[in-house]
Amino acid sequence: MGTVESAWSELCQHLREIEVLSSVTAVVHWDRQTMMPPAGASNRGEQSALMSRIVHERLADPRVGEWLDQLRESEELTEVQKAAVRNIGRSYANAVKVPGELVERLGAARGEGFGAWVAAKESGDFNGFAPILETLFDLVVERSAAIDSDRPAYEVLLEDFNPGTNLAVLEPTFDRLAVGLREFIQAVSDVEPMPKLSETFDVERQQKLMRQVAGSVGYDFDGGRLDKAPHPFTISLGPGDVRITNRLYDDDLLGGLGGTVHEAGHGMYEQGLPNNLRGTSVNSAASLGLHESQSRFWENYIGRSQPFFEWMMGPLKSFYPESSLSAQDLYRAANRVTPSLVRVTSDEVTYNIHIIIRFEIEKDLFSGRLKTKDLPDAWNDKYEHYLGVRPSNATEGVLQDVHWSGAAFGYFPSYTIGNLYAASLGATLSEQQPDLWQNVAAGHFTPILSWLRENIHSKGHLLDAPDRMKVVVGERDSVEDLLSYLWGRHGAIHGLKRPSA
Ligand SMILES: [Zn+2]
Repeated sequence: MGTVESAWSELCQHLREIEVLSSVTAVVHWDRQTMMPPAGASNRGEQSALMSRIVHERLADPRVGEWLDQLRESEELTEVQKAAVRNIGRSYANAVKVPGELVERLGAARGEGFGAWVAAKESGDFNGFAPILETLFDLVVERSAAIDSDRPAYEVLLEDFNPGTNLAVLEPTFDRLAVGLREFIQAVSDVEPMPKLSETFDVERQQKLMRQVAGSVGYDFDGGRLDKAPHPFTISLGPGDVRITNRLYDDDLLGGLGGTVHEAGHGMYEQGLPNNLRGTSVNSAASLGLHESQSRFWENYIGRSQPFFEWMMGPLKSFYPESSLSAQDLYRAANRVTPSLVRVTSDEVTYNIHIIIRFEIEKDLFSGRLKTKDLPDAWNDKYEHYLGVRPSNATEGVLQDVHWSGAAFGYFPSYTIGNLYAASLGATLSEQQPDLWQNVAAGHFTPILSWLRENIHSKGHLLDAPDRMKVVVGERDSVEDLLSYLWGRHGAIHGLKRPSA
């Protein structure tokens, strides 16, 4: 065997073991979020910390660097090998450049940050959270500098979550989107909001309904399960075991439905990844933004469409024969647009403004224009500017999200990147499948899933997400795709026409 071949096979074997270890960590994590009794938390924390350390040590194994060097010397690498060298090269560089003691300081600060955030959110006192937030921010800046001191810290963070993305592209994209969204939000604030659903639905029957919906759109229960969780998530426990969770409410059928379809979208992406490429790093999602595009495509583009609710009437009436709701009632209520203070319960139009506000604040923090102590006012001013609403306290303002307490700066943009990708995927799919909406109304979701499988899921991380999107949708303008989709659907519901540019 030549050097390149042996380097490749040893690297793949090494990575495969890291994957197995990571999947064990995933079992431990899933159990913590769904089944574990509270008193198990302390030992569970030790289990997770030890597993992360073992995985980190293996990622930073100097042999990984040697295998990568050997592969880089070859001019005859396959497509998969080239992608692997790029992907593993990134994770190896991060693992070796960030000193272990910094990883530990960050881990400890995250633990403290979460506790302080929970307490501050409860009391509404930002000052209780500010000192540890400042520490987390400093540590993240230090970590970014260790990875690449030539690039702005915020850009290094963005790339952590979305490889191949940079500020030079993201900034003008989000700016244009903000202008377009404000135009729609101003128009919609002059009309009556769509009514909410008045009926209640017991959660036991709802969960049966949700299982049927998730299975119908294509989530595979032979390789997955659906459980309740206070903070819904999707997790892969390895090939053949991708689990989703949801949270249901008696008085909010559509909230539970949207959340379930969202997680099913994440789950279908994981279920469609190329398991034949285990141990290459190519058998993973290309980015958080692309992951989010899959959940949001199903949740919003498909799952809030009129044809989807026409199909939903069958399953809904079989579980709730007493309901007098029509498809039109569901469709209108699911597309209610109202500027609000809280991201997680916002509608799909204003949602992106919630993200753009966080993106602008993060940029200002990292450029030094904004100090952490001034966050609450900066936050409130932006809400007033963009959405015309002003939080009356920090709990419904700057303290609403958990992300920063875990040092996840640069994470938020992934959500809107996902919405932008989803809009271009939807526009492309509807061109390529002219009978798309008839299929949805008839509950034939297979052509849609097959298209996503072929173009996105089965390609894993061969290309970074921005390059994958170019291959699938061509040179589309995702901002225009998202705005014209939102005006098309929500404009029609609210009787609004998009002003011509
Ligand atoms: Zn998601």
